[in-house]
Amino acid sequence: MSVQMDDRNQGFRTGLGHDIHRLVPGKRLVLAGVDIPSDVGFDTHSDGDVLSHALVDALAGAIADGDLGTHFPENDPDAQEARSLGFVEQFAEHVARAGYVVANVDCFVVLGTVRLRPHIEAMRANIAAALQLDLAKVSVKARSNDGIGPEGEGTACVAWANVLVYAVRA
Ligand SMILES: [Zn+2]
Repeated sequence: MSVQMDDRNQGFRTGLGHDIHRLVPGKRLVLAGVDIPSDVGFDTHSDGDVLSHALVDALAGAIADGDLGTHFPENDPDAQEARSLGFVEQFAEHVARAGYVVANVDCFVVLGTVRLRPHIEAMRANIAAALQLDLAKVSVKARSNDGIGPEGEGTACVAWANVLVYAVRA
């Protein structure tokens, strides 16, 4: 393989994000900034938006720059009432300042007891807006986990996110 080929390939980087939060009765269920009708919601001091949290971790991973906690510390009083989709928006600006453009995003939400499919398009639209990406570059998928495990039984909700970014050449 030539040196030139190596150099060109350095422009592409992927990032992986994952998050899980406990679900309890009487709280809001927020995914990618979308309020989803549900008897249970996230038992966290923030909105608990696992999908937004996984997305920030994926973006941070792609540019090898820490994680959600290093950029948005949980003990920050501002984080108590934070809308987590705002973290995605802020971190997208950080990625741009680092010299990278997001190519596409692919996500999974796993929750067995709430129908997520009717809300997928709203989640995609929110993520696309936060990342200033075309809708066609944003995928959100939902799985029930076949009723298995905490996410299948609805005592927790899990999100996975994968992103590809590429360097902008000056
Ligand atoms: Zn989280």
